[in-house]
Amino acid sequence: MPLREHVPLAPYTTLGLGGKARYFVECDTEDQVRAALIYASARRLPVYVLGGGSNVVFLDAGFPGLVLRITIGGVEFRDGPTPEVRAGAGVDWDSLVQSVVERGWTGVECLSGIPGTVGGTPIQNVGAYGQEIAETLVSVACLDRTTRERQTFTAEDCAFGYRDSRFKRADRARGPGALHRARSHAATGSRSHAAHPLSGATARRGGSRRARDHCPD
Ligand SMILES: Cc1cc2nc3c(=O)[nH]c(=O)nc-3n(C[C@H](O)[C@H](O)[C@H](O)COP(=O)(O)OP(=O)(O)OC[C@H]3O[C@@H](n4cnc5c(N)ncnc54)[C@H](O)[C@@H]3O)c2cc1C
Repeated sequence: MPLREHVPLAPYTTLGLGGKARYFVECDTEDQVRAALIYASARRLPVYVLGGGSNVVFLDAGFPGLVLRITIGGVEFRDGPTPEVRAGAGVDWDSLVQSVVERGWTGVECLSGIPGTVGGTPIQNVGAYGQEIAETLVSVACLDRTTRERQTFTAEDCAFGYRDSRFKRADRARGPGALHRARSHAATGSRSHAAHPLSGATARRGGSRRARDHCPD
């Protein structure tokens, strides 16, 4: 596990603000995420799960624990009556939308241009132009931060609301190992699901080939 120390965080966020991470690791496999969580747990370090950094501002004081940047890749398209795409949490969201639209599938086209990673999208139920990920997402695979076991949540399980999900609510209060909103959970070590190694979404076939062609202005 390629762990680094005293790593400036500003380059990893869109706003380019913030100090250094005491420890920083990029994980491109589920096992690396697991190992990083074990490392942090053994040293009682707070953990901050970072995606593309498009919705995060770190303090100038930096982060005193382990920043765990998710870079898990991989995209798998499944044709069929209900086409489905599966993507790793570290996959660039906008590139994924582009690929889906190029296949002639619809369902996420209005979410084109939203910065961040696939793993970041369920956290706040990303949405735009009247469309949101809750409408097409099938399931989200997570690691429980306490047990480090994989857990899968259906869209219904995710309790999506407007820019909201269970990952911002119910899991905030559970166990040492938070999932999203790492800023607060990392500091308190108070949430239970840590990462999204995989995220699946269905997309209906036959729509526009250009992103946002059919989205209201
Ligand atoms: C210019 C701009 C335009 C935007 N437009 C929109 C818009 O139209 N609609 C919209 O909904 N949002 C929008 N956003 C917000 C942002 O794009 C989304 O919130 C995006 O999903 C964040 O993804 P990220 O990977 O960058 O997450 P980060 O910014 O890295 O993290 C955001 C939160 O998610 C958590 N997180 C990230 N990845 C994971 C993971 N794999 N596992 C567990 N937790 C994770 C983090 O801990 C943090 O709490 C915009 C942002 C910018 C800068």
